[in-house]
Amino acid sequence: MEEPLVGRMREFGTTVFATMTKLAVDTGSINLGQGFPDTDGPARMLEHAVEAIRSGRNQYPPGPGVPELRQAVSGHRKDWYGLAYDADEVLVTVGATEAIASAVLAVCEPGDEVIVFEPYYDSYGAAIALAGAVRRPVTLRVDAGRFTFDPAELAAAVGPRTRAILVNSPHNPTGTVFTRQELETVADLCQERDLIAITDEVYEHLTYDGVEHVPLATLPGMRERTIMISSAGKSFSVTGWKTGWICAPPALVRAVQTVKQFLTFTSGAPWQLAVAYALREEMDWVAAQRAALEAKRDRLMTGLQAAGFEVLRPAGTYFVQTDIRPLGFDDGLEFAMRLPELAGVVAIPTQVFYDRPERGRHFVRFAFCKKDEVIDEAVTRLQRLG
Ligand SMILES: *Cc1c(COP(=O)(O)O)cnc(C)c1O
Repeated sequence: MEEPLVGRMREFGTTVFATMTKLAVDTGSINLGQGFPDTDGPARMLEHAVEAIRSGRNQYPPGPGVPELRQAVSGHRKDWYGLAYDADEVLVTVGATEAIASAVLAVCEPGDEVIVFEPYYDSYGAAIALAGAVRRPVTLRVDAGRFTFDPAELAAAVGPRTRAILVNSPHNPTGTVFTRQELETVADLCQERDLIAITDEVYEHLTYDGVEHVPLATLPGMRERTIMISSAGKSFSVTGWKTGWICAPPALVRAVQTVKQFLTFTSGAPWQLAVAYALREEMDWVAAQRAALEAKRDRLMTGLQAAGFEVLRPAGTYFVQTDIRPLGFDDGLEFAMRLPELAGVVAIPTQVFYDRPERGRHFVRFAFCKKDEVIDEAVTRLQRLG
């Protein structure tokens, strides 16, 4: 049989995460590749999910999500950001991943263009391709120790077919948290060129060194043109629950829901109820988790520096970027493939997140959302590189 997969999806084969996780298992390496925590979320939240199952909340919840969760998201937006979204401006999705795909499918005609900051989260490229749209990457480059963009380059990427811009802050895989000034640049461009902003804010609560996450929708003129996306996965350490949501004005929510209802219709009721509880009652747990992650970041950074990497200090997320050139390597892909044999550790070559891989050639990403003893063992092993 000929290749059955449609042409527009052929560039998306096996993800690097599957490859690297298999490599970790096959070689008995410590996996600092994929970004999921190795400890559970708040115990009472887990109990709420169990209780929801036991009390019979096991049939299809409403398409837009259970009222309890839509209310809780509405309250959380108000409390944290002063953003007023009614419960009917909230749509629950199967994680942020479905929210992103539904949003892109809802607003892009075939041939429309979507701006992404590269390196970008791997599902963005696939979502844009599914819509028959075209991605326009703008490269984040290191300046004064953090990844940022050139406003002129961003403006030049907008053309007559540009429909939307995907903004991920705190940013995976670089750890950058966009400053208010950077967000103002994005906001001005959205308004001048009539773009829809799709914001991926899954790391909204995981920022460090007192750096504050500013939602793009809080900037003047932006709420009305922003599809704001969050997820319980990263905030509450339950990446396997795949419970996310969008907040947007009614016309945008309706558009996204029109698509979402035929992708999955709805998602697991027990998780939705448990996340509703957590958004109301477990934000102290999230604060403690943020502090714990900041300490883990420092622990891993210190170890990576001692092993000879140049380390970039992330202001948010689960990830540290390293430059491997001081170790005598210059291709991160080759380095990451050899790292299990050299040191018994798995990491992700950052170049896989670029349309122009040469721009991220010497960066390698390590995850620090792991138990201290796992980080310590990885760090001990990495000293072999020296
Ligand atoms: C983890 C992650 C997601 C996916 O979130 P889910 O809720 O698991 O679908 C989306 N965007 C970024 C940047 C992520 O790191």
